[in-house]
Amino acid sequence: MLYVEAILPLPLYSTFTYSVPDSLADKISVGSRILVQFGRRKYYTALVASLCSTPPKDYEVKEIVDLLDSSPIVRRPQIQFWEWMADYYMCAPGDVMKAALPSALKPESETVVTLNRDYEPSAGEPMSEKEALVFSLLEHEGKMRLTDIEHSLEIGDVARLINIMFEKGIIEVAERMVNKYRAVKKTMVKLTIDRDDHDALHEFMHLVSRSRKQEQMLLNFLDQSRFLYRSEPLVDIEKEQLLKGSNGSPAILKALCDKGILTTYKVVVNRFESAAPNSTTSPASLSEAQQKALSEIRESFRDYSTVLLHGVTGSGKTEIYTHLIDEVIRQGNQVLYLVPEISLTTQLTDRVRKVFGNRLIVYHSKFSDSERVDIWKRVLSSNEPLIVLGARSALFLPFHRLGLVIVDEEHESSYKQYDPAPRYNARDSAIMLAHMHGAKTLLASATPSIETYYKSLNKKYGLVKLTERFNGANLPDVDFIDLREMRKRKTIKGMISTPLKLITQETLEQGGQAIIFQNRRGFAPVAICRTCGWTPKCRDCDVSLVYHKQSNMLRCHYCGYSTLLPRVCPACGENTIDVYGYGTERIAEDLHQLLPGHRVARMDLDTTRNKDGYQEIIEEFSSGETDILVGTQMVTKGLDFDNVRLVGVINADTLLNFPDFRSNERAFNMLEQVSGRSGRRKERGRVLIQTSRPDDPVLGFVRNHDYEGFYESEIADRQTFGYPPFTKVIMLYVKNRNATAVDKAASFLAGSLRNIFGNRVLGPDRPFVSRIATMHLRSIMLKVEAAASMKKVKELCRRAYLDVASDPDVKSSTIYYDVDPV
Ligand code: ADP
Ligand code: ZN
Ligand code: ZN
Repeated sequence: MLYVEAILPLPLYSTFTYSVPDSLADKISVGSRILVQFGRRKYYTALVASLCSTPPKDYEVKEIVDLLDSSPIVRRPQIQFWEWMADYYMCAPGDVMKAALPSALKPESETVVTLNRDYEPSAGEPMSEKEALVFSLLEHEGKMRLTDIEHSLEIGDVARLINIMFEKGIIEVAERMVNKYRAVKKTMVKLTIDRDDHDALHEFMHLVSRSRKQEQMLLNFLDQSRFLYRSEPLVDIEKEQLLKGSNGSPAILKALCDKGILTTYKVVVNRFESAAPNSTTSPASLSEAQQKALSEIRESFRDYSTVLLHGVTGSGKTEIYTHLIDEVIRQGNQVLYLVPEISLTTQLTDRVRKVFGNRLIVYHSKFSDSERVDIWKRVLSSNEPLIVLGARSALFLPFHRLGLVIVDEEHESSYKQYDPAPRYNARDSAIMLAHMHGAKTLLASATPSIETYYKSLNKKYGLVKLTERFNGANLPDVDFIDLREMRKRKTIKGMISTPLKLITQETLEQGGQAIIFQNRRGFAPVAICRTCGWTPKCRDCDVSLVYHKQSNMLRCHYCGYSTLLPRVCPACGENTIDVYGYGTERIAEDLHQLLPGHRVARMDLDTTRNKDGYQEIIEEFSSGETDILVGTQMVTKGLDFDNVRLVGVINADTLLNFPDFRSNERAFNMLEQVSGRSGRRKERGRVLIQTSRPDDPVLGFVRNHDYEGFYESEIADRQTFGYPPFTKVIMLYVKNRNATAVDKAASFLAGSLRNIFGNRVLGPDRPFVSRIATMHLRSIMLKVEAAASMKKVKELCRRAYLDVASDPDVKSSTIYYDVDPV
């Protein structure tokens, strides 16, 4: 007897065993989807993770209900990768599966109804007329979908009826799966006769002889299909191609079909069909410094499977990748090229496509589900060399001969998925994926994460440096504007100081452009009543609402709740509500007033919400239609503009000294990266940072573009306080709608964890925002030895949880883990 271990789409920590009926034994394989029963009445689509021939000892297994695929939709290495991810990030294999598959491949459930064989009618509870109707229908049909019952009986509210019958035990309800994938089809045309049937062909020619257009189309078909060229194989013709080739209309084709000469049929096509590689150009020739870095990377790959390329902003890392990719492709292997979602601009894709043509597959979250399925299928079915350029979810594609993984901007926090599980870091997962494939990984950044740099200094990764910008461009000059001074002397109104204004003006007048960075969106982050001190808070979260002027709304940036700004204070009734603080909307408005005649664009979550918003803003700035680009962290990342000579930072204070061990790292990265947008060509760029603490050491490192110095000071702190990379941090979150319950559950759980992990447990604490979307949140920090096995830690956490699991407050709470939080 054959058994399978199946992954179910449920947040359960294990896989489940089912037996395979003999009829399916030779069709089933690892990676196939199956329909299984789970619990008493529920059915799910599951995925075969492995096959085995011994049954589990301690329980009786159920049989698989059905096999859904004729061939597997996932490759074996993918499943190993999912298992690793579920262990490392302490989540359920089902959660990983849900994240990995495009949703059209994980079909939705639909209710299927059957009679309950154990049902015994009792005199005390007779069936209603409608129930009896459903009963006899099911007796006849066996099992039916809810929608079909609705159709056959033409009675209303079948769902409620079914529910009542279910409660009475008359019927069973199961979940069945419907496929949501929409294939793209094309119409093909073929001739209805054999090649040798000369008589029939003659007759056809006669049939069309009175319509010149029909004759023309038939002749064109005979030509295109090679019907008359006996030495060549006969081919069917795509409808569009025939209409174009014969200059005909669909009506003429229809006439030919009606006469029985031609006939049409449909075939499914992959939207991302692999075609022969179209004409491409070879990679750009490298500068001397780039060439040297490239050969060092190659050399380093001999000793290390992972190499860090530490290259300053504008050093031309992309061109180096292109050369590496080219080599791997020539060897017939596949490449995964990961970038933060936001970098997937046409700026980048065009550059890469120029070299690799349609070997390049771009994959990101803006694709429709069916498009994702087609990409999935192309990667699944292809043995050809490919490059997938994508955001973090591209990690899950069914690669086959992965030879190289590139993680651009490896320090980026957007590689980390926060919600829902799996809360994985795509960079670290990519290294594991590469390892499983025996592939190499190149990590690259101008500001590598502390962990990565530490590993490369300690010879776990190779290290290659590229210290000059391409084409001899210089790194920009960084100056500070002391807000404290200016406020003391009252020489600043608003947030744009006179020096910042004047230098921006000068830059623009000399034909340059400027980027202004402010890390808050909206108009003003707080509103307060002058009379009574009332301030609007979110209904569902523990945060102030942000005022958005254009829409005159107050918005919650955590849950999206919004409401009109009240005209009078709801607490005291006075007309005295003022707004304070500066978001991007206000900065853009102020710049507009201070620098009349110059065009200001804004780039933040609000202006880029629609599909092409981001692209349009970048193109307008790139072409010089706009002069100043004001934005949130979106403007700090990866953008490459010729003409930006000034970068202004409105207030660095908001980045410095957060109560969190990563705040310095985040601040340094953000400031160094945004600086890196300035002066990327001939002209030396400038950076002006406004701050009330110009002596902050982090700012000193930014001024000198001194990554190493920053690293030295940061790694010393991390060692002193026992933070990563010297330990591994796991955050446990406890969530509950009830404030008392959440506190109780969190302290219970922390206590239980302390019994096992001792002083490695810190907390419980209130996170920075301790209530989000009506849920109260508490956190517990667990610091374990850097080399600890996460599988083991997961087991111990599980044990700690089970010890308190029967407590009602723990039971009513949601508990989840965040491993390696960023
Ligand atoms: P980075 O990613 O290191 O910040 P980019 O790869 O964006 O830098 O390169 C910066 C700019 O220099 C880009 O506009 C790129 O086209 C150009 N560039 C870099 N290397 C070359 C090269 N070898 N030949 C031509 N242009 C190059
Ligand atoms: Zn008031
Ligand atoms: Zn909210």
